[in-house]
Amino acid sequence: MAKKLDQIIVIDVEATCWEGSPPKGEEAEIIEIGVCPIDVAKGRKLEKECIIIKPELSSLSEFCARLTHLTQEQLNKGISFKEACSLLKKKYLTEKRTWASYGDFDRNQFHRQCELFKVGYPFGPSHINVKNLFAFNKKLSQEVGMMKALEILNLPHEGLHHRAIDDAWNVGNILLKILW
Ligand code: AMP
Ligand code: MG
Repeated sequence: MAKKLDQIIVIDVEATCWEGSPPKGEEAEIIEIGVCPIDVAKGRKLEKECIIIKPELSSLSEFCARLTHLTQEQLNKGISFKEACSLLKKKYLTEKRTWASYGDFDRNQFHRQCELFKVGYPFGPSHINVKNLFAFNKKLSQEVGMMKALEILNLPHEGLHHRAIDDAWNVGNILLKILW
């Protein structure tokens, strides 16, 4: 499939989580996908979007609700993981475009969950790990978290940390600052 280089699709995901390992029979599942496309020619972010997904094999623990600021009621109104993958492909052309996320978690979680749900991986081969890129850009001896990267770049933190829509937006700002 020919690659489209007009946008970079920045993505962050939140997943069900617990203080330790999941309760018996439950699995970590994506509950929010934050999407923030970057217009490459203009060097700016486009409108961000929040996709809420209803988990099928787990529920929102109190710990996870506190971390992500999400509620089980919100999740109950969400779409399925399969529908979310279709949306990414149709609306954001994620099979043709390069996508970006902060660290390996988001990419690994998509791979794990696609396998688990027998859903096709919604992305093409090109992925930018912004955490890794940032460490090279700043010649750091080790990778740092998103909040630290914002601080190093003197960028304000916007919105709520651990809300995927806001995390994607902030990662978009980091990527813009180091690429443009
Ligand atoms: P983030 O993009 O940093 O908001 O984290 C993505 C996901 O990683 C969260 O939705 C959780 O599933 C998991 N996670 C992040 N931080 C923690 C933590 N302190 N304890 C347990 N899980 C976490
Ligand atoms: Mg996040």
